[in-house]
Amino acid sequence: MTITEPPVAAFAPGRLFIGGQWRDASDGSRQDVINPATGAKITDVARASAADVDAAVAAARDAFDSGPWPRMSSRERARILQRAYELMREHTEELAQAESANVGKPIMLARFVDVNNAAELFEYYAAYGHHLDGAVRETTGATHAYVKKEPFGVVAAITPFNFPLILSSSKIAPALIAGNTVVHKPASDTPLSALLMAGILAEAGVPDGVYNVVTGAGGTIGDHLVSHPDVDKVAFTGSTAVGAHAASLAAASLTPFTAELGGNAANIVFADADLDQAIQTVISAFVFNSGQFCMSGPRLLVERPIHDTVLGILRDAVPQVPFGDPTLPETVIGPLASADQLEKVTGMVQRAKDAGATVVTGGERVGTDGFFYRPTVLADLAADAEAVVDEIFGPVLTVQPFDTEDEAVALANGTAYGLASGIQTRDLAKAHRVASRLQAGITWINGWALMDPSVPFGGVKASGWGREGGPEAMESYQRSHSIVFNLATD
Ligand code: NAP
Repeated sequence: MTITEPPVAAFAPGRLFIGGQWRDASDGSRQDVINPATGAKITDVARASAADVDAAVAAARDAFDSGPWPRMSSRERARILQRAYELMREHTEELAQAESANVGKPIMLARFVDVNNAAELFEYYAAYGHHLDGAVRETTGATHAYVKKEPFGVVAAITPFNFPLILSSSKIAPALIAGNTVVHKPASDTPLSALLMAGILAEAGVPDGVYNVVTGAGGTIGDHLVSHPDVDKVAFTGSTAVGAHAASLAAASLTPFTAELGGNAANIVFADADLDQAIQTVISAFVFNSGQFCMSGPRLLVERPIHDTVLGILRDAVPQVPFGDPTLPETVIGPLASADQLEKVTGMVQRAKDAGATVVTGGERVGTDGFFYRPTVLADLAADAEAVVDEIFGPVLTVQPFDTEDEAVALANGTAYGLASGIQTRDLAKAHRVASRLQAGITWINGWALMDPSVPFGGVKASGWGREGGPEAMESYQRSHSIVFNLATD
């Protein structure tokens, strides 16, 4: 496979952004950033230590306690976030090139999904700032009561490798509009867009210390950040295992914690579905971002009368999806984001094969330098097979037949996760009935990944707590303060 080197001229200043200043790590450490399409180093960035986390939290604390940000009106903050939105639009190409080269995303995906959706989150929450308000409450006694919405203070935002720009924007934009200050730790493998965003937010007028970025290893600085006494709120997105660990640390100091964690969504295709549309949905749901999407659809449940037909169509159609060089505009599936992801996916598919799964298509690595894994469809798996119940996080689809609505619901709900789900059917009554029984934060009908900044997403069960997107996200970044006056005259 021939891979074009991305234009790497000025990806990002590879330094920490603390208190409005670019700084090296206090001990001078650096970490490499790898292009997943080639396996080669594209740049390096500072690798923060606990001392750097202390400095970033101190800057955010100072900006919250003494700086202008929480004291200015939400309208003034809104104007600055709106400017950030405009700058993101102006810097679309730079952000998209960084996201594509760093994560291995096809360039069109990076432009039209990652940068676009991230910018829209800033636009949405900027608009929100024009009507942030509290409430006056009717009381029974001689009192006057009102409820103010106040920011938490210093928010630690911890984000994963797969959608760096969108998932950081879904935290930073609502956190900032509410008046919080932020210390952001992006994933070690994909830190570049956070550094670009530091420059963009500063240029937009976000005051020094309000948005700080510490790049570095979660295993080294994550615990320190989450349990830092000056952090008032932790917003975590990542795996269920790391999220549970971080939540336990936050619980020890009673620090509020929201958790957007792993997923393993079922996509239920009924025999009455529009088959062409359903197949397109099934394929895009599992290959989108090389399957590295918390809300991807790696579990296909097909009503038995169309099971064999669907498998046959997938056998022919999946290899036709343009796969390869992420710099090419026609590419739909790029590499996995890291050698670790490749190893994880390879191992899970191999164990499924060893356990007797049928490989309908795919099932192998492609090339030796980049982290490409051919889109894969597996059939004939047991309901409790590892590849069915665990999160694969790669371009792999498992297919299971079902006979009744009850069975489809039981299979769909049959894993520890509960993030997304989908139903493909022409029968709207059935769609409503089944959707109401699915344990998931979001259910798409006759489509997949239909996202909008106004629509909340988040998990149930092992997929987490809290919601991002929409007005619901504001609950993660504001708390109520009731103020009650005694109106009695004697
Ligand atoms: P991960 O390994 O859990 O890492 C997530 C973040 O946590 C990274 O920034 C990581 O830093 C950091 N971290 C690691 N150890 C930590 C610790 N002890 N304390 C605090 N932070 C620590 O997840 P990932 O592999 O990057 O992302 C994939 C996972 O995220 C999948 O399970 C996916 O489903 C989930 N996800 C969920 C959503 C959602 O909205 N529900 C969205 C996207 C992804 P390092 O990178 O430096 O290790």
